[in-house]
Amino acid sequence: MPSIPFPKKKVPLEAAREELKILEKSYPDAKTALDYEDPFTLLIAVILSAQTTDAGVNRVTPFLFERYPTPQALAGAKLADVEKIIKPTGFFRMKAKSIVNAAKALVERCDGKVPRDRETLETIPGVGRKTANVVLSVVYKEPTIAVDTHVFRVSHRLGMTLGKTPRDVEGDLDKIVPEQKKHLVSHWMILHGRALCKAPWPLCESCPLNALCPTVPLRAKTLAARRPAKKVAGARRPAQGASKGKKG
Ligand code: SF4
Repeated sequence: MPSIPFPKKKVPLEAAREELKILEKSYPDAKTALDYEDPFTLLIAVILSAQTTDAGVNRVTPFLFERYPTPQALAGAKLADVEKIIKPTGFFRMKAKSIVNAAKALVERCDGKVPRDRETLETIPGVGRKTANVVLSVVYKEPTIAVDTHVFRVSHRLGMTLGKTPRDVEGDLDKIVPEQKKHLVSHWMILHGRALCKAPWPLCESCPLNALCPTVPLRAKTLAARRPAKKVAGARRPAQGASKGKKG
């Protein structure tokens, strides 16, 4: 299927807020799909989730945390042992280094606790803005919005942003989403992106947002452009060699 362009104009604020209400209603129990017990296990699970699925991470973390249940235990782990456990998540050498170094940083600089402020969180190895936002919003219910590939796509398709980078999208969503819902909006969009607003082809016919969504006409246009031209009933193909407007 061809990909559908993102809308070139944002929807008005009231329409965007209406879209958010529908998302909230559609996913009332939205939460992270990563399994975790506490801030430490969530932080490590989020670092492991780069370039893989949450389900894939959930398959390895029980073994990882059985062996290394605390930052102190993981900080003292041998890289080769950690690599063996997390191998199925991909990029396992880099990830093993990140999570062991993250655990060391927690022990050495944060009293073994996951910090609650972004500035300190982002100094932990393996933690960028998105990971910090996930931890802050999921564990501490802070009003932060984590922009992953689903949030990026869904918010563009809904005309909430024209942002070129995750940071731009986060800034636009930050202006639209009510403060007390900011820690939830990523989960709504991730679930919606997985269920209906799929890449590259969204299932708009089944979507509760289709009356508001500016991507619906763009999708129809994209589909029409790809359909072969309809045959006119009764029309015949000209015989080979026949010329237009026979002379003589
Ligand atoms: S109507 Fe289509 S493009 Fe718009 S949010 Fe729903 S599934 Fe996505």
